[in-house]
Amino acid sequence: MTVHFPFQNSYSALPDSFFARVAPTPVAAPRLIKLNRPLAVQLGLDPDVLETPEGAEILAGKTVPAGADPIAMAYAGHQFGQFVPQLGDGRAVLLGEVIDKDGIRRDIQLKGSGPTPFSRRGDGRAALGPVLREYIVSEAMFALGIPTTRSLAAVVTGEHVIRETALPGAVLTRVASSHIRVGTFQFFAVRRDTDAIRRLADHVIARHYPELLGAERPYHALLGGVVARQADLVARWLLVGFIHGVMNTDNSSISGETIDYGPCAFMDAYNPSQVFSSIDEMGRYAYANQPRIALWNLTRLAECLLPLFSEDQEKAVAKAQDILGAFSDTFSDGYQAGLRKKIGLFTERDGDNALIQDLLDAMAKNQADFTLTFRKLGDAAGDPAADDARAQFMDPAAFDEWARRWHERTALEPQTAAERQAAMHAVNPMFIPRNHRVEAVIQAAVNDDDYTPFEEFVKVLAKPFEGQPDYAAYADPPLPEQRVLQTFCGT
Ligand code: AMP
Ligand code: MG
Repeated sequence: MTVHFPFQNSYSALPDSFFARVAPTPVAAPRLIKLNRPLAVQLGLDPDVLETPEGAEILAGKTVPAGADPIAMAYAGHQFGQFVPQLGDGRAVLLGEVIDKDGIRRDIQLKGSGPTPFSRRGDGRAALGPVLREYIVSEAMFALGIPTTRSLAAVVTGEHVIRETALPGAVLTRVASSHIRVGTFQFFAVRRDTDAIRRLADHVIARHYPELLGAERPYHALLGGVVARQADLVARWLLVGFIHGVMNTDNSSISGETIDYGPCAFMDAYNPSQVFSSIDEMGRYAYANQPRIALWNLTRLAECLLPLFSEDQEKAVAKAQDILGAFSDTFSDGYQAGLRKKIGLFTERDGDNALIQDLLDAMAKNQADFTLTFRKLGDAAGDPAADDARAQFMDPAAFDEWARRWHERTALEPQTAAERQAAMHAVNPMFIPRNHRVEAVIQAAVNDDDYTPFEEFVKVLAKPFEGQPDYAAYADPPLPEQRVLQTFCGT
């Protein structure tokens, strides 16, 4: 049996300045750790064949499958606000694109597959821990219904990578609707290559925003489209307590998917200024700062597109500002509508936003667990005697006062208690990839070569809205001594 990838590559047909042709570097002894079988099927790949030794060699970059056209993509980016004119795929290779079962074009990329012309001082490799983290969290995001890149496979390479210590090396097979970033546009903008910006914009419209093909002003519409998707994305992040951690412009996808899971994490106790990344000392990428940063990144994208807007610089800037102005309302609408659903409201009334804000304020003040408070509020909607939501508050009286107002408000709607509970449980997950669990799973794999905890965790997270009583412990917040305060950058 040979592994057949039905590649139909389009990015590698763009001009040479868009990428560097480079094959993955062969590794010593690839071993498949995890194959995402349903995703393989979705991509038109045979999971049984991918699980053979030959499949593992491909997923580790040891052999290049027929039809692949491996490239490292060029991009630039603002990292923590500082512009770097050349970043690019320094440790990833795009094997090619396939059209999935839904007719959507998907990139298949190997991350950790060896050096490329963009590696700078890096070794082009990835350590096992960050590969498992990305696998777990990206697939959890998918199960939560949040646009994201996916993980097709994780392999260990049989080689060590040198970080602070020697660690097992690994390769993640990442699947994305594309790997085009804000930073991809910046790469050409800083080189004043307007033709390339136009080529890239046309490629992006055809690929991600085909509905804009007939628009009178397609490049204006493109910026508007990215603004809308990013605003929606960040609203969804906030609604599940997700902190990306490194929202640099090179980690900001044009398709509106969550991309590049480095020092990301889900909040336990609600704290709007929560930061996880060990290198984010200023709190630039703190939980509540994410909408502002998304808009900042989009403003960088708008700057790149100005030459396509108008020859008249002033007119172009005015138009860009106008389009960027939509971010705030799109974000707020998505966020507030999501919060109304989280507290079980079917309708919208004056005072709802204040009711929600008062809950969030009380949660912050009382270190209430973000996920459990909303999940258990669903139980309280079904049965007023259920008091697990109340138990999340250091001072439960703070919850009682709020809950009275909440019951008054929900009583204005005709839905039954059971209907309200079902609607709330469908949007408030029971299971998120809690950071202490992610760390424990990584430790078992890295230190003991034990992947049983990883397998079980991935399985539980695939059904985040189901009760799964056998796995109830996975819903628990960390004990004080289990709390992970920082996540180190996953390189
Ligand atoms: P990231 O922090 O993963 O978004 O990466 C930022 C930039 O650093 C990108 O250009 C990466 O390709 C590059 N990079 C990260 N880790 C490595 C590595 N181990 N070797 C080479 N380049 C890397
Ligand atoms: Mg990146």
